[in-house]
Amino acid sequence: MTKRAFNFNAGPAALPLEVLQQAQEQFVNYHGAGMSIMEMSHRSKEYEQVNNDAQSLLRRLFHIPDNYHVLFLQGGASTQFAMLPMNLLQPGRPGAYVMTGSWAKKALKEAQLIGETAIAATSEGDSFTRIPSLSDIEVPAEAAYLHITSNETIEGTQYGAYPNVADHATLIADMSSDILSRPVDIKQFGMIYAGAQKNLGPSGVTLVIIREDLAASSPKHLPAMLRYDTHVKANSLYNTPPSFSVYMVKLMLEWIEARGGVSQVEQYNRDKTNLIYDAIDQSGGFYRGVAQAASRSTMNITFRIHDAELEKQFILQSEAQGFVGLKGHRDVGGLRASTYNSVPLESCRALAEFMKEFQKNNG
Ligand SMILES: *Cc1c(COP(=O)(O)O)cnc(C)c1O
Repeated sequence: MTKRAFNFNAGPAALPLEVLQQAQEQFVNYHGAGMSIMEMSHRSKEYEQVNNDAQSLLRRLFHIPDNYHVLFLQGGASTQFAMLPMNLLQPGRPGAYVMTGSWAKKALKEAQLIGETAIAATSEGDSFTRIPSLSDIEVPAEAAYLHITSNETIEGTQYGAYPNVADHATLIADMSSDILSRPVDIKQFGMIYAGAQKNLGPSGVTLVIIREDLAASSPKHLPAMLRYDTHVKANSLYNTPPSFSVYMVKLMLEWIEARGGVSQVEQYNRDKTNLIYDAIDQSGGFYRGVAQAASRSTMNITFRIHDAELEKQFILQSEAQGFVGLKGHRDVGGLRASTYNSVPLESCRALAEFMKEFQKNNG
């Protein structure tokens, strides 16, 4: 068997070997069709089945109620930053944003191009090392929605609990970097969106889970591709979909189901990240976690070594030993291990061992 890297890439990210092998088996000849899924019409029975299976698997695994639509769109989460305000903002009804880091900032910036916005809370004063406390979040009474970023991929912070605003505001979440990593009470949200390439599959497809009433009210002037109702009516087949990506998402969802579902995945993720956070916390200060303890992410572990030269050495030596993707995001520097759903426990154990060894040799 080919040797696989200890892959801690932030996105696109690791996929389960079993899923890749299954795709490989079906690559040239999908279920006896004499062609790959990529070469087929998206109007074919075979592809329609893939599209429907991916949706129903997701509904089952994530316990999505019947009054929500599941959409597979293109353009990444970054397109949702604009599409959301285009569809939901109205004059006198601002979009409220919780500022938790780099991705929240990008979401706000796009909304500012479209309509009125408000900042509901921010942790910028603490360099985004924490999620603001839920009691500090203030939603203007007339707000069209409250937008949160459930996991800040670059800073390595994550909401422990979500703001409970369902009785007076529509909660919208960018879950691009922690979708399906833990159970979520969908009813708390008006809409959830996520690019697939971190926790759900390859790049090229963006998941949108949207409550029926929100998808029904797009302004008349919006172009067809940028309206939620277009994609609802067409069952995500309005135009040519990213068929291979949706197919890979389906395989990934089957893999999650075979492992026992989202709660099991959550436990597994905790076991994985505990190994690495323990290596940080038990290093006597050699390693320092970037996020404050209560806001630590189970998906992106950000940490530093007191000396920038040692950080460089850490990356070089880790690469020599088969680790990939441990360099922090270029905007913040430092080190980061992304431990999404598909990253095996063995990779995390190997990293924790490497960290201890590196400390022994350089501490
Ligand atoms: C990666 C990421 C995005 C951007 O996703 P694209 O699909 O590349 O547009 C947005 N939000 C969060 C939280 C992310 O991690």
